Amino acid sequence: MKKAKNIITYNRLVYVVLVLAILLTLVAIILVVARHVDVEVKTEAEYKSLVLVESGDTLSKLLVEQGFNNTDVLQIAKVLKSDADISSLRADSDKIEFVRLGEKEPVSKIIVIPSPWRQVELTCDESGTWSCRKIDVEKDTRVMYKVGEILDGDSFYLAGIRAGIPAGILAEVYDLLAFEMDFERDVRAGQKFSVLYEENFSGGKKIDNGRVLAIEFEALRGNVKMYRFKKSDGKVGYYDENGNGAIKSLKRTPINNAKVTSSFSTSRKHPVLGYTRAHKGVDFRASTGTPIPAAGAGRVVARGYNNGHGNYVKIRHNGSYETLYAHMSRFAKGVVVGTNVKQGQTIGYVGSTGLSTGPHLHYEIIKDGKHVNPMTVKLPAISNLGKEDKANFIEHRKVLEEGMSKLKENPSWFIQL
Ligand SMILES: [Zn+2]
Repeated sequence: MKKAKNIITYNRLVYVVLVLAILLTLVAIILVVARHVDVEVKTEAEYKSLVLVESGDTLSKLLVEQGFNNTDVLQIAKVLKSDADISSLRADSDKIEFVRLGEKEPVSKIIVIPSPWRQVELTCDESGTWSCRKIDVEKDTRVMYKVGEILDGDSFYLAGIRAGIPAGILAEVYDLLAFEMDFERDVRAGQKFSVLYEENFSGGKKIDNGRVLAIEFEALRGNVKMYRFKKSDGKVGYYDENGNGAIKSLKRTPINNAKVTSSFSTSRKHPVLGYTRAHKGVDFRASTGTPIPAAGAGRVVARGYNNGHGNYVKIRHNGSYETLYAHMSRFAKGVVVGTNVKQGQTIGYVGSTGLSTGPHLHYEIIKDGKHVNPMTVKLPAISNLGKEDKANFIEHRKVLEEGMSKLKENPSWFIQL
């Protein structure tokens, strides 16, 4: 028995080696043919050189380097400004492609590329006059759906990367969910999540990420669902299944990903004072200098120093909510009493001023004059939908959900909505 098995294994090995040898020969032949074709195309094709604009580069400098004289340079700059509204180049962002009909020929075509989705082509006619036209870059937007699961000792970020979600999309998802959950304390092994989002392609190549269309997260307080929706007035927002605004007026954790080192409590032993007193906020560990974003839009009503809070800022968000940020190393430029701030705008930087044992952000939410627990307080949504928008939203949600269930069955697919 044993011998027979060995013989079979040996025969199989010989067979595999033979097949591999044939395949390699085929690949080699294809490569040779392909290379030959490539060379042929090159002799007939235009000669192209792509230049990335670097700091210190100007249009005229780059044109002179390509052999243009002053008359051409002036004319090209004039046409670019009047017909394409391009008057200067941005370093490390804009690209210019120069096309020649032969290696030693003068440039016959210039393509200015301010973004992957915007290109301007300049050509010269026989009389030596330059003109420009916009090139339509075909954008192929693909909707992807990825499902992930938190494993033991995992972070949401790691689980998302493992699920194949691009880092840029994950950062957006993080920001959207930060209103609803605390990633430090609410993430557990076994929780599943899914993201429906776009990737933009051109000529079969991925160029950049698109929008986050829907998110689902099995959170501790129940499933969190968010759908992106454009209202009839053109404003875009994220809504839950029922069309209620999913973005809360205040973030529970102003600094993403910061670890909670001390929770809200009505009695705790103060680390510096030694005796028991209420902890009216939540402490987040973060290194000195970390920017502190405003938890919501509002007006700065206090900015100063006291023995307990050190450097602190207080923001009034509406008639009932205020937030306070303490122990700052310094305030953000331009943030003074009376400044209107946007949600997410940096108001100061983490430090350890006042009664503090180390750098952290002490964050308080004050509702109708009383301190509440930022982690558990029910927060109002920024906006809900009117009747007509709501009906449209329900239809839109169905389309997104159909897309998700289709992609769930075929994870390698993408759809176009
Ligand atoms: Zn504190």
